[in-house]
Amino acid sequence: MCGIVGYIGSQEAADILVNGLRRLEYRGYDSAGVAVLNGGDIQLRRSVGKLAALEDLLRQKPVHGTLGLGHTRWATHGRPCEENAHPHMCCNDKIVVVHNGIIENYVELKRELMDKGHRFKSQTDTEVLAHLIEDADEGELMLAVRQALSRAHGSYAIGVISGDDRERFIAARKDSPLVLGIGKEAAYLASDVPALLPYTRQVIYLNDGDMAELRRDQVRVFDNHGREVRREAKGIKWDAAMSEKAGFKHFMLKEIRTTPDDSKHI
Ligand code: GLU
Repeated sequence: MCGIVGYIGSQEAADILVNGLRRLEYRGYDSAGVAVLNGGDIQLRRSVGKLAALEDLLRQKPVHGTLGLGHTRWATHGRPCEENAHPHMCCNDKIVVVHNGIIENYVELKRELMDKGHRFKSQTDTEVLAHLIEDADEGELMLAVRQALSRAHGSYAIGVISGDDRERFIAARKDSPLVLGIGKEAAYLASDVPALLPYTRQVIYLNDGDMAELRRDQVRVFDNHGREVRREAKGIKWDAAMSEKAGFKHFMLKEIRTTPDDSKHI
């Protein structure tokens, strides 16, 4: 397991992302990172080990901007190290991806993309997604992400930012959890509700195969056929401690009861 967070709004994204990651710490991780958009530039900060190491790095080399993604990684492909930590970028550093899950056919996809001239910087399965999106990108990010995901087998919860698209970011999930938060002039993304609770109690649970487009003032959800669908926002009434366990007495019970298929749920 690992954690994903995302934010678009009017506050400094890095603070909100790190705070969200802190609230997902219980999911376990070996490294962490954030990417924040500033103008068209993507600022990336990643570190191995505790979140405190990422916070130190951010103190030394701050990032500024109001749109960003964060990730805590539990390595499945590629050892825990800075290059393998998320977020991952495409060749020209315009597309950024955070991912929870496993891309099972990444070896074939990586070979195909390398033959086309894509240059890889990590040993992860995740990085193929950034290059697949870059490859499919003809100016419509949502479409490029959909095309990329149609090539990927396995499980994913992802967040995607493009340096060419400053007003929104994209999320999608299949066999990995992901929840959206609706704020005031802000939208949030997280692997689990506790990361959202300091900011909003209005959440939308994504169904398997859903994609979402998050803007400051609007969140749109699309099903696996690309049709826009209405997913009702739910008001969370639990406090943070209760919601981390989703009403279960122990985390272990929550895992057992809420995991549809253990083999796919990372
Ligand atoms: N499979 C990806 C990796 O090894 C994501 C792991 C995770 O879900 O944290 O980087």
